[in-house]
Amino acid sequence: MSVAANVIQLENTVNSFVAEPRKHLIGGRWVEAASGKTFPVYNPATEEVIAYVAEGNAEDIDRAVKAARRAFESGPWPDLTPAERGKMIWRLGDLIYEHLEELAQLESLDNGKPIVIARAADVPLSADTFQYFAGWTTKMEGNTIPLSVPYAPGATFHAYTLREPVGVVGQIIPWNFPLLMAAWKLAPAMATGCTMVLKPAEETPLSALLLGELIQEAGFPDGVVNIVTGFGEETGAPLAAHPGVDKIAFTGSTEVGKLIVKAAANDLKKVSLELGGKSPNIVLSDVDVESAIVGTAGAIFFNHGQCCCAGSRLYVQEDIFDQVVEGVANEARNIQLGPGLDPNTQMGPMVSEIQFNRVCGYLDAGAAEGAKAIVGGHKSGGKGYFVEPTVFVDTKPDMKVIQEEIFGPVVAAIPFKEVNDELIAEANGTDYGLAAGVWTRDIGMAHSIAAKLKAGTVWINTYNIFDPALPFGGYKQSGWGREMGHDALDLYTQKKAVCAML
Ligand code: ADP
Repeated sequence: MSVAANVIQLENTVNSFVAEPRKHLIGGRWVEAASGKTFPVYNPATEEVIAYVAEGNAEDIDRAVKAARRAFESGPWPDLTPAERGKMIWRLGDLIYEHLEELAQLESLDNGKPIVIARAADVPLSADTFQYFAGWTTKMEGNTIPLSVPYAPGATFHAYTLREPVGVVGQIIPWNFPLLMAAWKLAPAMATGCTMVLKPAEETPLSALLLGELIQEAGFPDGVVNIVTGFGEETGAPLAAHPGVDKIAFTGSTEVGKLIVKAAANDLKKVSLELGGKSPNIVLSDVDVESAIVGTAGAIFFNHGQCCCAGSRLYVQEDIFDQVVEGVANEARNIQLGPGLDPNTQMGPMVSEIQFNRVCGYLDAGAAEGAKAIVGGHKSGGKGYFVEPTVFVDTKPDMKVIQEEIFGPVVAAIPFKEVNDELIAEANGTDYGLAAGVWTRDIGMAHSIAAKLKAGTVWINTYNIFDPALPFGGYKQSGWGREMGHDALDLYTQKKAVCAML
């Protein structure tokens, strides 16, 4: 592992974007925080301040919710035809492509992720998410329902359902894919005709704020999308509790997800949650070993392990265990660590000091509980929140590194003898159920294991494949509801049954 450092020159537009204190977007205007306060956003590769952004509180949230309510109840948004709405969302996707380099640079600067990944994955996938949902605006159909009411003999009815937007939605997102998570939240809510208050993560608000400018340029009416930056307790919590919000959509830790549910309970807002994971990745001995090594290493090390679906528990059949584990360790050794803005970087820093300390805490806990790091196991010295990609062996099922989400580049490798109920029980043996992987040439076996895994997504001979058409979400404590695909429309609509006697 070595630290590279040939960072690219930032575009002038990016430099000027970060030079100005960034404001909230409320009711179509960029406004300072009600308190007048700002807070710093850091570059995790250098620990230096990149920019200052408005520090929101309950008053800012209240203003944003009121603006979203006005935009939902009156004004041009509810009067647009579905096709007009769709074209606007599609245009936003085009604008994201036009500003791909700026968005990728901001994302890499703020989050620390490799610029090559931001250019190839985060930004295009965000644009595609908007364009996928743009197509749904004209397909939000209800049904006609034949009735046979026993206590109304001889009567005939005309009954049908309407799919209506749920209303004003509050959306709270994390820092691991800042732009993409904004797209996952905003796109289906726009498609269904809702209005939104988005609260980006305090660590990474910049790309969402640039997206806000593009939303205005695409022609969305004032107040349809409002963006309030700030910290979780001061800004996220009042959004989750606000009585003017009809639905809250959250992506983040399971711990905060439970707080969201409690905050939403007062007025029984609708809630959808995409929470943590501790995903098992199961490798059978008949596999093509080389591709399984590359694939399972990518499953944990992609995005520095800061993925809720990271394949963090690697189960390998015992006859190929040493070979696979050594192969994954080698992949880890060869990963080029560095600032995201260096095009040679393969893994950037952890997003923040808090996250860095959390991951280092798990490295210490693993060692203290008797797990052995065959590669990594430490922070990487010098400036920036860099952690060595780590492979643990000699773990036990009840260890913290097996049960708890680390959200860093740390995988535990566990041997198994054969595919049986015990293996499946162990794979399913955490509170989480977000994703899982299976690697084998025996396709029948792969589908049989997929059926038994308690996970919202199972990848076979691949990992981390996302598509706007593919639903994503969790079993157990990994969440409620499914984002993406047509399932996401259910999160932002409610059905009305209309029944007329003829
Ligand atoms: P992480 O621990 O990975 O940073 P969190 O779940 O704490 O993840 O944060 C995800 C998002 O939730 C962020 O936008 C954060 O500001 C927000 N958040 C944190 N605490 C709360 C809270 N009590 N209520 C609402 N939102 C919160």
